[in-house]
Amino acid sequence: MKCRHCHAPLSLPFIDLGTAPPSNAYVTEAQLADPEKWFPLRVFACTNCWLVQTEDYPHRAELFASDYAYFSSFSQSWLAHAEAYVGNMARRFDLGPSSLVVEIASNDGYLLQYVKARGIPCLGIEPTAGTAQTARDKGIEVREAFFGIELAEQLVSEGRAADLMAANNVLAHVPDINDFVAAFTRVLKPRGVATFEFPHLMRLVAEAQFDTVYHEHFSYLSLTAVQRVFAHNGLSVFDVEEIPTHGGSLRVFAQRVDTQAREPTAAVAALLSREANAGVSGVTYYGGLQARAERIKDDLVSFLIEAKRAGKKVGAYGAAAKGNTLLNFAGVRADLLPWVVDRNPAKQGKYLPGSRIPIVNEEHLRRAKPPYVLILPWNLRAEVTEQLAYIREWGGQFVTAVPEISVR
Ligand SMILES: [Zn+2]
Repeated sequence: MKCRHCHAPLSLPFIDLGTAPPSNAYVTEAQLADPEKWFPLRVFACTNCWLVQTEDYPHRAELFASDYAYFSSFSQSWLAHAEAYVGNMARRFDLGPSSLVVEIASNDGYLLQYVKARGIPCLGIEPTAGTAQTARDKGIEVREAFFGIELAEQLVSEGRAADLMAANNVLAHVPDINDFVAAFTRVLKPRGVATFEFPHLMRLVAEAQFDTVYHEHFSYLSLTAVQRVFAHNGLSVFDVEEIPTHGGSLRVFAQRVDTQAREPTAAVAALLSREANAGVSGVTYYGGLQARAERIKDDLVSFLIEAKRAGKKVGAYGAAAKGNTLLNFAGVRADLLPWVVDRNPAKQGKYLPGSRIPIVNEEHLRRAKPPYVLILPWNLRAEVTEQLAYIREWGGQFVTAVPEISVR
């Protein structure tokens, strides 16, 4: 097994979550009679370039056969985040009617709708047909494709050149990180800027966010590793911000190495030095997560068993990838957690992959009035607590399992 960036042999284990089905392979009623495919879920750190990455398999393509698509616009807080981003970028980089904004993984147009509203020309790149169509319905031009050098060359041949390229929560999800990053240098104008948002490895380690590990999430990124991957592929990092999304992310600003239009800010050196002090470029840093994940799993299972013995129902909220990693790692099934609520109608009536816990609508929660609601996407705790505040009327409490069991 070789590093996806530098091709050095991978030997340093970061976390082993056993086996799991693809996290987005929701099971339909008809599929309940069929077996599911489970794949190993192991993550390694490269001791040469410090890119943390999932193990690769010969049958990787089968992982992504699922036709399920995530629609970004279902999260209000994510929409607010996108709108604020567009405002900030338009001001900072003077974007206007003669600019071009290209978003990679533009999904249902959750972000480009705000670019379009400002009268700034934009183009979305999105491989999933369903979400791409939703964006087109909003009047946004979408290219239905995966982004990489091949597509970049095509855009260049059509005379497309970008002032701003946005890549939110996609860098960590691409298998060929070199091809993906190098493609930006082709499409960017000489003074163009590319921004990348991804969950920060330091937060994953500090807060034991092991449930953010799933097959489709190939890389777990530090700025140290990102800077190295970028430099190798023609991009240089000139600024970085820490943002609260997905449990703590980085927004990295990059430009073409050949033009170096902007001086790097002090934030870049400061964060690199914090990562160095934390030990990101050393073997020890990657050694503690396994034991913490196992303790979280034990505590969650104990909580669910005790609640069941006490005759107290527990319902779950949020049928997202995180929850699937946690529930499958912990071996939780419908006997301990009978249902999970999700607002997305496309998921309702289906079952979680692996655990096969039924996904229900919010009405179910209102009727069942469980004393405990386990919030699976803990990063949305504040939003969900506010949205479901009515459970307090029957004395309900919210539970999160990561980084430790919390009942409030
Ligand atoms: Zn490497």
